[in-house]
Amino acid sequence: MAKDIFVFIEGKDEGVRKSSIELLSKAKGITKNHNSTTYGILIGPKSEEMVDTVRPYPDKLIVVRGDGLDEYRWDTYTPILERLIKTYRPFLFLGPSTITGKDLFPRLAARLGAAYISDATGIEFEGEEALVKKAMFGGKIISWMGINEKDCALVTFRPNSFSIDRPSGMAEVIEEMGDGKSEEAITVLETKKTMEKKVDLQEADFIICGGRGMKGPEQFGIIEEIASLMEGRVGASRAVVDAKWRDYEDQIGKSGKTVSPKLYIGCGVSGALHHTMGMDTSKVIVAINKDPNAPIFQYADYGIVDDLFDVLPALKEELKKLKEQAG
Ligand SMILES: Cc1cc2nc3c(=O)[nH]c(=O)nc-3n(C[C@H](O)[C@H](O)[C@H](O)COP(=O)(O)OP(=O)(O)OC[C@H]3O[C@@H](n4cnc5c(N)ncnc54)[C@H](O)[C@@H]3O)c2cc1C
Repeated sequence: MAKDIFVFIEGKDEGVRKSSIELLSKAKGITKNHNSTTYGILIGPKSEEMVDTVRPYPDKLIVVRGDGLDEYRWDTYTPILERLIKTYRPFLFLGPSTITGKDLFPRLAARLGAAYISDATGIEFEGEEALVKKAMFGGKIISWMGINEKDCALVTFRPNSFSIDRPSGMAEVIEEMGDGKSEEAITVLETKKTMEKKVDLQEADFIICGGRGMKGPEQFGIIEEIASLMEGRVGASRAVVDAKWRDYEDQIGKSGKTVSPKLYIGCGVSGALHHTMGMDTSKVIVAINKDPNAPIFQYADYGIVDDLFDVLPALKEELKKLKEQAG
């Protein structure tokens, strides 16, 4: 079986999610070594700019067009992808561990009866065998899972798992038609957008996360300022979201979002397992907590045992100075 790889390309407004480009870049590196093909799969592109943005990354780009396909829906996208996988028979189908990926991939795996690994953070090859890296038990264990499927296996990866290589080439575009009519008796009556944040939490390189130690919603102003100085995003623990200090879309953890930024700073976050499951693969973790025994310090690369209300103003001032120096 040829080691061709499919990559699901997820749109965002009129553009393409960075995590999709990361996956295309990684897949291309793999298929180059196996003399096989990376296919990008783009369903219902909202603009031709989306097609142009992704074209330099895969070897081939399958663009599926049809009425009603411009918004993701599991009931229309799943049968299209099932058909494409059965036709092209790739060895792997990669996608992002975003809300869409987490909805789509398990459904598709069930339809295909295929193996599925969620929330992975790496992939390597030992000879012909693909090994997928995944953190388990809140990051206490790093597992490597071998794929020995004859048929296509599905894997979703946390955003920021791979770097983006400089693209080389221009993919051949394969046009396919798809049916945007639902197989199920579901009609979407209205879609409402929540307030748009400048940087997507799952794709942010920098996240400063507030926990219950922040004491109240009004104290989040300072971490908003730090996030803005660092061009990053504010995250929150579930305790904070449950207390209605922040919106659910900011929640990191088991019942929130999984993130993997280059730098995560936890402020007054205890580091409960349900929280760390969502941030344990951050590249550098800094914890600010006045309790030296807080579990978050077991995950932290740098720990500050102090009152966050003393540390954060000092941090903000230093960042401002650095920003001014940098001009
Ligand atoms: C099924 C399930 C799913 C869950 N999903 C999630 C999830 O997705 N995300 C999530 O976060 N949680 C989740 N939880 C809840 C999780 O178990 C914890 O209860 C929660 O993460 C605790 O939030 P916290 O760290 O903000 O609060 P706390 O545990 O109350 O910690 C507050 C910390 O702040 C420190 N602190 C207080 N004042 C200061 C100060 N002035 N300066 C410095 N430090 C200070 C304290 O020492 C303490 O460590 C889930 C729970 C369950 C059962």
